[in-house]
Amino acid sequence: MPIANASSGSVFMVVAPSGAGKSTLVNALLAQDPAIKLSISHTTRAPRPGEQNGREYHFSTVENFLERRENGEFLESAEVHGNYYGTSRLQIAEQMHAGTDVLLEIDWQGAQQVKKQFPNAVGIFILPPSITALEERLKKRGQDDDHVITRRILAAGGEIAHAPEFEYVIINHEFAMALSELTAIVQATRCRFAQQAARNASLFAQLGIHATLS
Ligand code: 5GP
Repeated sequence: MPIANASSGSVFMVVAPSGAGKSTLVNALLAQDPAIKLSISHTTRAPRPGEQNGREYHFSTVENFLERRENGEFLESAEVHGNYYGTSRLQIAEQMHAGTDVLLEIDWQGAQQVKKQFPNAVGIFILPPSITALEERLKKRGQDDDHVITRRILAAGGEIAHAPEFEYVIINHEFAMALSELTAIVQATRCRFAQQAARNASLFAQLGIHATLS
């Protein structure tokens, strides 16, 4: 069921292996740009210390998650590191309808599913500057058990193998530079013809620009 139209905001998908610094970058972008909203996913993963239901995730039982998936409530869903994750179709539909830009922090499987439904969704892959840096970040984070960290390090190669499917790649070597690159991608997307035409319909009409929007 298509839920986007010419007046919609943009969908950004930010994908990275665990430990690439994705959440820190995304949080910094959201803090400086209130016009972009984060989609809060559903997950069967247990909350980490400090995480709150409805803020980082909607935490759910496997049974409840599978029931929602069965009911078609998810725009995309995937099993990642042994837990289920999914994006609420309704939440995205509401934000798109309001013309809000939406950011999805998802994995490559989810990104493939979203791209099929929103071909204009912008895919951004965050790479660590090295595999050692990635391991160090995961261990330093101290939020996961050792076996969880090992599982995520082993999975990193598989996730990174999907980087070529993305339009943009940011190498998170230096935080300020990575954030400025992410900001530039968001700004460039907002300057796409279709987005500008949708946001400035009366100006475009006044200037006699009558293009067909895809
Ligand atoms: P974490 O457990 O560290 O919060 O997330 C683990 C992985 O699941 C990350 O790669 C994250 O991007 C991914 N993830 C989080 N939410 C979703 C979602 O709604 N859909 C999919 N497909 N992946 C998600």
